[in-house]
Amino acid sequence: DQHLDDLDPEVATAIRAELLRQQSTLEMIASENFAPVSVLQAQGSVLTNKYAEGYPGRRYYGGCEHVDVIETLAIERVKALFGAEHANVQPHSGAQANAAAMAAVLQPGDTIMGLDLAHGGHLTHGMRINFSGRLYNVVAYHVDRESGRVDMAEVERLARESNPKLIIAGWSAYPRQLDFAAFRRVADAVGAKLMVDMAHFAGLVATGLHPSPIPHADLVTTTTHKTLGGPRGGVVFCTRELAKKIDSTVFPGQQGGPLQHVIAAKAVAFKIAAGEEFRERQRRVLDGARILAERLTRPDCAEAGVKVLSGGTDVHLVLVDLVESSLDGQQAEDRLHRIGITVNRNAVPFDPRPPMVTSGLRVGTPALAARGFTAEDFTEVADIIAAALKPVFDETELAARVAVLAEKHPLYPHL
Ligand code: PLP
Repeated sequence: DQHLDDLDPEVATAIRAELLRQQSTLEMIASENFAPVSVLQAQGSVLTNKYAEGYPGRRYYGGCEHVDVIETLAIERVKALFGAEHANVQPHSGAQANAAAMAAVLQPGDTIMGLDLAHGGHLTHGMRINFSGRLYNVVAYHVDRESGRVDMAEVERLARESNPKLIIAGWSAYPRQLDFAAFRRVADAVGAKLMVDMAHFAGLVATGLHPSPIPHADLVTTTTHKTLGGPRGGVVFCTRELAKKIDSTVFPGQQGGPLQHVIAAKAVAFKIAAGEEFRERQRRVLDGARILAERLTRPDCAEAGVKVLSGGTDVHLVLVDLVESSLDGQQAEDRLHRIGITVNRNAVPFDPRPPMVTSGLRVGTPALAARGFTAEDFTEVADIIAAALKPVFDETELAARVAVLAEKHPLYPHL
């Protein structure tokens, strides 16, 4: 068997270049993280070869005795981590977890409610050309223009007017906690099921640093690669009553053979997430985001037209509002890229600029916290970002400061 370097130098070289990019820049895309080497090992294992349609003890293929052990470990660990009655660890991604969860309680044509994509919702919460928008009748709710927070009065009004079968609470770009109990009350008032998509903040929930949606929701979905810090993939949690239904909408409803190598990597990530070290890391995630929000709300930033949506953050990200800045989202993203900080531009609610340009940045701290960044390091990161968003900035000086931070916290030193 030939080594990848010899067999396919083009791919091998690009992988090595990507490793170097991750090591030498500061990753602040809020949905990204650095999976530990143990997770990469599980994912790169011989489990790649195995077909295992079905569930532990009920497979449609022979030779599943070892993958049964692994999938059972993943299920039991993630149930214990989140205090859930039932978990399905097979969804290949967050989008497929959502598709399966929705199929379990909806028929095509049913009405769903979700946070508007332009206000921080996800594609799978009802975007027009996504499966969710094509299969279901979508009523979107919004954030309040003044507070930047989800407008629960609007949620209740829209729910009473449209009688949804399902209300989705969750977000991809929102800096605050949702009131799950209030969503439950609205759902109960109109006879809807409640689904919470905790993909972004699952790592915070796992460590008790964010309220858990599990006691309030009929269905909870997540990805495993964002704040949770595991392999790319999804999980659906549900009540005992919906367990059978979910297991059939994931397989055979949405998927064929499960990715057992990814499920093994999920099991490893769930073990890590249950430990004290992971909790300490999530505390640094929150500290870092708070430090960033505090820095970007000072008068020098206000003078440059830089603001922070909702005035702060309770989670792992900050949404920078550039509506009044001379820089648009694209220009700000490019500037940070040039000094070695990776973020994504993001529309802000009621954004006056077009979607490919935007007036915002989404800046997250999970990946840097995984590298070991402390409050002191995040203070330096925040100062660098604040300086880069001023009308005049010194690119060479800021790039040098970024390089110092990257060298201080080596990433994957043995890869
Ligand atoms: N749900 C939310 C809230 C997300 O932010 C995302 C990813 O960005 C997803 C679901 C989809 O996850 P995936 O990209 O794994 O399909």
